[in-house]
Amino acid sequence: MSDNYKTMGERALMHGPLEALFCCIGDPVIGNPTQIMVEDAFEEIGFAGRYLTCTVATGSVKEAIEGIKALGFAGANVTAPHKVEVIQYLDGLTESARLSGAVNCIYREGDKLIGDNTDGKGFHTSIELIKPVEGMKVLVLGAGGAARAIITELALHKAGSITIANRTLEKAQAIVDTLSKEVSTKLDAIKLEDHFAIDKSWDLVVQATSVGLFAPQEGLDLVWEKGERIAADVVFNPIETQFLKAAQKAGATCVDGLGMLVYQGAIAIEKWSQRKTNFATMKEALERAFSL
Ligand code: NDP
Repeated sequence: MSDNYKTMGERALMHGPLEALFCCIGDPVIGNPTQIMVEDAFEEIGFAGRYLTCTVATGSVKEAIEGIKALGFAGANVTAPHKVEVIQYLDGLTESARLSGAVNCIYREGDKLIGDNTDGKGFHTSIELIKPVEGMKVLVLGAGGAARAIITELALHKAGSITIANRTLEKAQAIVDTLSKEVSTKLDAIKLEDHFAIDKSWDLVVQATSVGLFAPQEGLDLVWEKGERIAADVVFNPIETQFLKAAQKAGATCVDGLGMLVYQGAIAIEKWSQRKTNFATMKEALERAFSL
């Protein structure tokens, strides 16, 4: 951290207003690089804010949110396993959070804490940089929290159709049943079997399961037909996953999980600070974090 950033904090301490406080709550949180990315971004944009990473055990989420309120924190990130439970303790939700049923970002409106979901928004940004999602025929592998946030945001941006393939079919069907009432995108659910075939009809294929996270040799058992499409993985460590390697061999334009991580963070930081962030700095911070 540079002297300027430290001086900024010290000046805020001596003359006010005090630095804005933020935190990430989850369990486990060791290995979560968000603090490094956020504090580098704060420093670069000259925002007097501090960000801490806090282990909050299951059963203590209500107290953690009360603590965030009482201590006057300006915002927070919420990570696994609390993204769903936290909703009941907040004062309001954005449409993305309400529809995806999960919150990964909290901001303040006066003395109210509002829950948002920037995971899906971050993913959507990483795809829109290549091609508009409107009208796309999308295949999403997985039906967990990340998949749900992505599906919600793609539907809100008028993807043509989204097929959800999950190992546990019921979870995919539950997303279809809930979201179909709220969006015009056509949704359907299928089972993610072994030797799952990915034909060339998809415009966008999203790997949104946790397979491959911290496991560079692991990947889903997929059979790719050669063809042009976008293939995106939510897994960000390793950056180049088995899924992306196979997709690239089959002719896809690949999008790694780092983009989603940077953009979801950037959306949060811009909301908290009301300032524009620099994606390159944030990406560099993440790459540095992963090399530690
Ligand atoms: P969840 O635990 O909510 O969901 C996990 C999903 O993976 C489920 O669909 C589950 O299927 C599936 N799955 C797990 N193991 C297997 C397997 N062996 N074979 C097939 N499917 C499997 O996790 P999240 O949705 O919260 O997270 C998923 C991934 O997304 C993680 O790697 C996480 O790090 C990443 N992520 C990345 C972000 C980014 O910014 N890049 C942001 C948020 C998350 P089933 O339902 O059958 O159990």
